[in-house]
Amino acid sequence: MPKTKEPPPTGWDLLATYCPQCDAACCKYFAFEIDEPDCEEELDKVYWFLCHEGTMVFVDEGKWFLQISNKCRYLQPDGRCGVYDRRPQVCRDYGLGEDGQPNCEFTDGDYGYELEFRTPEAFLIYRNAFLEALAEEEEKERRKRARARGAASPRPPRRRKETADTLHIATAGPHPHLAGPLPRKMNRKARRKAALQA
Ligand code: SF4
Ligand code: SF4
Repeated sequence: MPKTKEPPPTGWDLLATYCPQCDAACCKYFAFEIDEPDCEEELDKVYWFLCHEGTMVFVDEGKWFLQISNKCRYLQPDGRCGVYDRRPQVCRDYGLGEDGQPNCEFTDGDYGYELEFRTPEAFLIYRNAFLEALAEEEEKERRKRARARGAASPRPPRRRKETADTLHIATAGPHPHLAGPLPRKMNRKARRKAALQA
């Protein structure tokens, strides 16, 4: 009876054929999500992360991650897991993509990040450009608010320039006030002068 040909392995079975050929790349680092830096203080924090050896920051699907290269303490010299039966869930889940096929470092899977910073210098370029754009944005907002405030409370009408006429000061002849009874508080000298002008 002719032997039936085995179908090629897929999914976990296929991955199991890769792992022995791999240098256990996925057991030599870990990564976790961090806040997206959106101000000078947060940007400085990411810069600080990257000042340390073995770190990398990347953005995947809009989320920021800090990756630290550090070998798992349970990785055996032969590349096997020393705690296979009690390995963390994240280790159990790792290795397949959404299509159920191997997707990891070894298969050169979906690892095209939106942003990737491997050195502090690379991040400083991003940081400076970000802060510049932020300053421009804030300046635009400030101008917009100032315009809105101007529209909401229009300027008070300009004061009419006072002239001798508008102040009812007689430029030729005595003050109209002086035509009537003299103000009581005028001192004698002023009273006299006013009377002479009348
Ligand atoms: S990187 Fe991929 S092939 Fe290598 S050990 Fe991890 S899961 Fe296996
Ligand atoms: S626990 Fe095992 S599978 Fe998980 S990272 Fe360590 S060596 Fe690798």
